[in-house]
Amino acid sequence: MMSNYYLEDRDLLAISNLTLIPNADLSRRTSMMTRCRAAMLAIPQSPHALRRLVVLARRRGWPLLALGGGSNTIFATAEFDGIVMILPREGFGEMEISEERIVRVGAAAELSDAVKFANRNHLMGLEFCTMIPGTVGGALAGNAGAGNYGLCDFAERVLVLTRDGEFVDLHRGDFRYSYRVSELADAIVLETELLLEPLDHETRRQRVKEYNSKKKCQPYGVPSSGCIFKNPKDPQTGKPVSAGKLIDEAGLKGYRLNSVVVSEQHANFLINRGEASGEDFLAMISLVQDVVAERFGVVLEIEARIVGGPLTSCKLG
Ligand SMILES: Cc1cc2nc3c(=O)[nH]c(=O)nc-3n(C[C@H](O)[C@H](O)[C@H](O)COP(=O)(O)OP(=O)(O)OC[C@H]3O[C@@H](n4cnc5c(N)ncnc54)[C@H](O)[C@@H]3O)c2cc1C
Repeated sequence: MMSNYYLEDRDLLAISNLTLIPNADLSRRTSMMTRCRAAMLAIPQSPHALRRLVVLARRRGWPLLALGGGSNTIFATAEFDGIVMILPREGFGEMEISEERIVRVGAAAELSDAVKFANRNHLMGLEFCTMIPGTVGGALAGNAGAGNYGLCDFAERVLVLTRDGEFVDLHRGDFRYSYRVSELADAIVLETELLLEPLDHETRRQRVKEYNSKKKCQPYGVPSSGCIFKNPKDPQTGKPVSAGKLIDEAGLKGYRLNSVVVSEQHANFLINRGEASGEDFLAMISLVQDVVAERFGVVLEIEARIVGGPLTSCKLG
């Protein structure tokens, strides 16, 4: 068990409206369900409590990870010697129509709920998110999306808490983003205003049908993190190619390493078929990267966020 010096820090314990859970089990907090414990899980009940936590973590040099729905995060080690912070739905997950065509939504809201809310209020544009699990905050931090769209394309304003403890309103153009990355991941996303289109039932129906049919070939209801790798560019043509197709053509569909399996349904999904550890996933990721590089000369870049170990890609405050 980790030594829990956090429990001895009077300044941390003195923060009001902050729930602290030492030695917290994280296995059910990510969709990949790898076994991991965090030295501390912190759930702030107010922006002020969150700010005090962030400032203290910065001052003490503590690793602080913002976790949303955990649907794109893999804990690679059995222990995370830092603080995992989760925004609760209450206080950080509200939704409202703030202006005509603008939905204001808190970072802790489920992305799929935001889509439903927009639809109920006769607005559309987020149909591509219907089948993407996780929170609005996680989706903005990773510019989650499908087809040619990412959630950041719709964000007119984003309220963030910087790692220095400042609340900042960012407007379109203040932050950069591209395919599955966003500068918003450098801060903690608190809420956003999304500019949507007036509802046109037929267009919406067509889009939902199109996205749902694409999603049918992906495995749902099993422990995974969605696509593990980004779609790379073909070295010859410069055009994007499907990472899943390359993995499939490399003969890896169904390949198993301990409890980690390359999905038979969609080769860019790695599935936890039992008690897979983070190390098992890292080993499988390296193996797939090596085989695809050897076979096609293409380097697969990891899309999922890895916490801990040599491949860490999450921002830790
Ligand atoms: C079955 C399945 C299908 C999927 N399909 C898609 C898809 O079609 N398209 C797609 O893009 N993704 C897809 N994903 C991946 C995942 O659902 C998305 O990336 C999602 O947006 C992650 O949100 P989350 O809240 O779960 O993020 P988490 O996994 O909790 O976090 C992801 C990253 O965001 C950071 N983060 C989380 N919350 C905040 C915050 N408030 N402020 C700052 N940083 C934060 C975390 O530190 C981490 O680095 C799929 C996943 C699964 C399991």
